[in-house]
This record gives sequence, C-alpha cells and structure tokens, in this order.
Amino acid sequence: MPHSTREKKLAYLRNRGYALQASNKREASREKWHRLRNQWIAENGGRCVQCGFADPRALQIDHVFGDGRKDRRGRGPSFVIIDIWLPENRGKYQVLCANCNQIKRVENKEIGGPPRKYE
Ligand SMILES: [Zn+2]
Repeated sequence: MPHSTREKKLAYLRNRGYALQASNKREASREKWHRLRNQWIAENGGRCVQCGFADPRALQIDHVFGDGRKDRRGRGPSFVIIDIWLPENRGKYQVLCANCNQIKRVENKEIGGPPRKYE
C-alpha cells in the first residue's frame, strides 16, 4: 500500500514543489508583463497624452481606435503586451491616465449595456 508515512510525506513534498513552481512561473510572467508595460509607457512620454498626468500607477495603455476589447478577446493581455512593441502597431496605442481613458470610453460609447447618463 502506498500509504506509509514516508510515501505520504514524499507525495506531499512533490505536490508542494509543483505548486511552488507554478506560482513562481505566474509571478515571473506577471513581473515581465509589468516591466514591458512600464517600459512602453516610459518610452512613449510617461504621461497622459490628454492631461499630462504622470503617476505610472494610474497610467494605462489605450488603443487609439478603441478596439481593446476585440483585441484582448480570446488572447489575453500577454499578447497585447507583445503587440504594443511591434513597429507596425506604432500609433495604434497611446498613454492615457485612468480618468481620461474612462472619459474616452464613455464618449465613444465603448461601454456595453444601456446608455448611461452622467449629466
Ligand atoms: Zn489624463
């Protein structure tokens, strides 16, 4: 029977190892994503193109033509982070702060659902 204390302990350590490995991998790819994102923002002015806001914590990469949702669908953000660096995509993205990005979404009716009233 595979239920000796020793085997249980080995199985536990094995599973723990896999879990740690997986979580390190996730962590590494998150870090890479943030590094690429911050680098892109810095190289593209480092501030909101609308209002000049420059705190990177509230800066976002905006799709100039508002096709972010379509772009992300089925691919996930890791592909978008590669796209922004492609030379043929130059001009397709811009730096916006969270406020200006949200205002743009409302004005362009990029938000789904019934129209909202803000006045
Ligand atoms: Zn702004």
